[in-house]
Amino acid sequence: MKILLMVLGFLFAVLPTAEAAIYQQGIVYVIYDEEGAAAPKNKTDINANGVPDVVEDIATQINAARELFKDVFNYPDPLGSERYKNVTSIEVDIGAKEVMKNNGYAFSAVRKNSKHNPKERALQIQVANTINPHKNSTPAHEYFHLIQHGVTRCRGTWYSEGMAKWSQDSVTKIKKYPDGKNLPTLLKSKTFEQEVFKVSYDASNLLWYPLAVNMNDKAKIPSSLMKKYKYVDGAPVFQDNIIYGANVMREVLKSFKAREALLTKEFGSWDEWIKNRNDERSYKIMFDGIKEIQAKGKI
Ligand SMILES: [Zn+2]
Repeated sequence: MKILLMVLGFLFAVLPTAEAAIYQQGIVYVIYDEEGAAAPKNKTDINANGVPDVVEDIATQINAARELFKDVFNYPDPLGSERYKNVTSIEVDIGAKEVMKNNGYAFSAVRKNSKHNPKERALQIQVANTINPHKNSTPAHEYFHLIQHGVTRCRGTWYSEGMAKWSQDSVTKIKKYPDGKNLPTLLKSKTFEQEVFKVSYDASNLLWYPLAVNMNDKAKIPSSLMKKYKYVDGAPVFQDNIIYGANVMREVLKSFKAREALLTKEFGSWDEWIKNRNDERSYKIMFDGIKEIQAKGKI
């Protein structure tokens, strides 16, 4: 009983309550408590529309990242993908940071009865109530996880967290990118491979940025998009117009998807692979896909 109460206490504390407010911006719905432990800490409302600006800004950052990846760089849209067909929206729950511990979470499972309309299905993200999108790219990071989930079942935090951290380049200004010159040599080294498999967020600096720079994949965010997406106070969502690696990462995701057949064969069946997605054998097959893309030399 005590355990049950603790579990219930956890759920009530972390998620918005049944009386939560819902803010909609396009296909993004942000669900938040106006008062209490899970309510957004920053209640600034400079446009006086009754919605805390951070709530609007979270939705804006997600919509901006979505348009950039989907319409500019042709990433598959998680909504309507093979895995998520009949899913029409993204729901973002604002939760208490003290309970969540981390800044955000993206679920791979669909919310069958969405909170804004129980007849519709939604993809789900959780964002901590301390997040301020001006300084923090958690919403874009979590949205990128939805792209990953929509494309491939491949796992491994070196891939999922490392690449999601890379994706934050879309909305933040990166002062110095790691040098990718020695990446071709590193990719041939077993020690490097082992090092990559052990890390999560740090794989962005160890592997993903060097890969992007090495492959010279420097792209510009169109000025129309730079102008379109502004936070409530007028600050631009895209802090600079340069993004490295957007084309390379799309190809890596496609390569992982294409390798699912190989992975199924390696493990004997799809179910066996799914059970063992965090096995090094699985990682190596994914890694070979990255090597192949790098060896081709252009995207
Ligand atoms: Zn993440």
